[in-house]
Amino acid sequence: MKKLTRILSLIMVVALIATLFGGCSQKRDLDKIKESGKLIMLTNAAFPPFEYTENNKVVGVDVDIANEIAQELGVKLEVQDMDFDFIVDYVKKGKGDIGVAGMSVNDERKEQINFSVEYITSTQFVIVPTGTDTASFELDGKVIGVQEGTTGDVYYASDPEVIKAKEVKKYKSAIDAAADLKLGRVDCVMIDEMPAQNIVKQNESQLICYNAGYEPESYAIAVAKDNTELLNVVNKVLNRLLDEGKIDEFIVAHS
Ligand code: GLN
Repeated sequence: MKKLTRILSLIMVVALIATLFGGCSQKRDLDKIKESGKLIMLTNAAFPPFEYTENNKVVGVDVDIANEIAQELGVKLEVQDMDFDFIVDYVKKGKGDIGVAGMSVNDERKEQINFSVEYITSTQFVIVPTGTDTASFELDGKVIGVQEGTTGDVYYASDPEVIKAKEVKKYKSAIDAAADLKLGRVDCVMIDEMPAQNIVKQNESQLICYNAGYEPESYAIAVAKDNTELLNVVNKVLNRLLDEGKIDEFIVAHS
């Protein structure tokens, strides 16, 4: 019995240590960021005009914004391209400093990370083949392509209370989903307004899009909960860019 108590106490101590260290983010506060000379931006570079690749470089509205933040801090910007649905967890764990990915503010994410001030308003769009009558197009009963972990996936296509999809096919990006739409493997693709318009522009003879009519969403930058100093700098830069009309300029430049 004594032995069992001792083993149990040992397990509890190990579990406590694991929680303390494993659950804790390796915070890169302002001093650490400045010391390292770089600000790490996490994004998914398949979301034009916000982030996309050009000549093997990640560019876009969000990269322009993050560059302004890096400049304010006097450091270089390092962009890390990754799966969208891992960004919040990586920011939370301090594996990157800012998540800038056309990320919509929502309660689930707010539990994990802090959001900056909002800098864009968007809504869900549906991409369909040209010739589709969008006025009578019903999402119920359709095979819908989405980008995994996005609001279009979680809050709409995959929620049977909202849409009774026949099937929801989850992709790494809306660009991949649109490629399958062109092959007839899905009936439509649900993704944010500007990326939808951008994808349609690249495939004008084959695809069109329309507003699905759901709630507006707002984009904000994700910062680790314990990194308030960094959040303050992010907000200061965003507020300045918004005041100066710079974000609209970035959108025009990337559209
Ligand atoms: N705005 C959507 C979301 O936050 C999609 C973002 C994205 O795919 N980069 O879920």
